[in-house]
Amino acid sequence: MSHELPVLAPLRHGEWANWARNQSAHPQRMARPRDTDALRELVRSHAPAPIRPAGSGHSFTPLCATTGTLVSLDELSGLVEIDHAAATARLGAGTVLKAASRELDARALAFRNLGDINVQTLAGAIATATHGTGARFGCLSSEVRAVRLMVAGGDIITASRDQDEPLLRAAQVSLGALGLLTEAEIQLMPAYNLHRRVWSQPIGDILASAEALWAKHRNFEFFYIPFSGHGICIAHDETDAAPTPRAPQNDDEETMGLKSIRDGTMQDVSARRAILHKAMAQNEGEDVVGVSWQLLASPRNVPFKEMEYHLPLDGALGVFEQLVARVEAERPDVFFPIEVRMTAGDDAMLSPFQGAPRISIAVHAYFEDDHDWFFSLAEPLFRAAGGRPHWGKLHSLGARELSALYPEFEHFNAIRRELDPPGLFRSPYLAQLLGETPA
Ligand SMILES: Cc1cc2nc3c(=O)[nH]c(=O)nc-3n(C[C@H](O)[C@H](O)[C@H](O)COP(=O)(O)OP(=O)(O)OC[C@H]3O[C@@H](n4cnc5c(N)ncnc54)[C@H](O)[C@@H]3O)c2cc1C
Repeated sequence: MSHELPVLAPLRHGEWANWARNQSAHPQRMARPRDTDALRELVRSHAPAPIRPAGSGHSFTPLCATTGTLVSLDELSGLVEIDHAAATARLGAGTVLKAASRELDARALAFRNLGDINVQTLAGAIATATHGTGARFGCLSSEVRAVRLMVAGGDIITASRDQDEPLLRAAQVSLGALGLLTEAEIQLMPAYNLHRRVWSQPIGDILASAEALWAKHRNFEFFYIPFSGHGICIAHDETDAAPTPRAPQNDDEETMGLKSIRDGTMQDVSARRAILHKAMAQNEGEDVVGVSWQLLASPRNVPFKEMEYHLPLDGALGVFEQLVARVEAERPDVFFPIEVRMTAGDDAMLSPFQGAPRISIAVHAYFEDDHDWFFSLAEPLFRAAGGRPHWGKLHSLGARELSALYPEFEHFNAIRRELDPPGLFRSPYLAQLLGETPA
């Protein structure tokens, strides 16, 4: 496999920071074990605790932060084994999704779905239930068929549907709280091309047809451009057609364009509405065919902070409408598109999609802008509708609220205590999430 390193934010003078630069840490030790023996040595040395695994640092929450030991498993990456008949592959935990996609494509296999980006590590994406969109597709964690996990004593344990099914369902969304994932077996499918269509439409029309669009298209999502009255729809469907040329993508320039319109109209929102309305009416959209993994994910270079909640289908679009009304009445500073997606249900213990499909609504703020409105405005609306937060994105919940949202919360904790009696992997943040005092 091409050796594509996770874009782990560099450690400068002993400081680790995440992609969005809203989380940082000063670990006493930063380790990058070259193999499982070196990893075992590290774990057995109790190398100062808490030991926290880090992937590409693309979570906005302090899941990786530690004053103890930060471990990168990027040396444990690559394709370990493929089963073509079952369309599954065993991959090293530190494998970057983009590198895996490329390598799998060369073997005529592909992920069934992907999120907006593909620079996360496999383990990092699994640990937080990273998802894309599509009524028939679960989050990446739901595609995990088996895991290999190094636990507090340094032993590697395995779990699958046939062997320790509860452990598999706990490890599918683990927050890195159970130990260090070293490998995962993932359900894939034969490599496929997608027909991608992007178009803009008045938001009222999108909301009226959203349910039908999710039913019709393999993958469907929309982005609402605040103050424009319009959304951008993106649909993907499988096709046997060959890839067609694609114009260079300019998402980053478009985002910065929205920012400069915002900056120039802070005191005159009606002028902003007129500018955006015109721009959206002129949006040409896109109609191309391409290789699945190249169309599903895109680079994201404009740094932002994000909150995303996963809501029960019933009422989710009503929450979206309330959110837009409140943002446009109260927050002229908001310019980042609001993203709306759907993900199928699964049965992983801490999956936000556990039990039933959900609609995800994501709000963003430019990295230098205030994001207090996430908590004062958006989160109460999401919570009132029974939403569960994305584990890797900003939220204010702790164990008390989370245990009420997850029927198997205590089961997960019981498994965690059994695997990690000394609390080697338990940081103060994890203790707050899971309901225990820090180790
Ligand atoms: C620009 C951007 C776009 C995004 N788009 C999406 C999207 O479309 N859909 C979506 O759902 N999310 C999205 N996210 C969120 C992102 O997918 C998740 O936060 C994901 O967890 C990041 O993966 P990572 O490799 O960076 O992991 P990190 O953020 O580094 O770590 C995440 C968790 O994984 C744990 N972990 C890492 N390695 C291991 C290991 N070997 N064993 C056990 N635990 C481990 C860490 O301890 C931590 O708890 C996006 C984030 C950004 C910044």
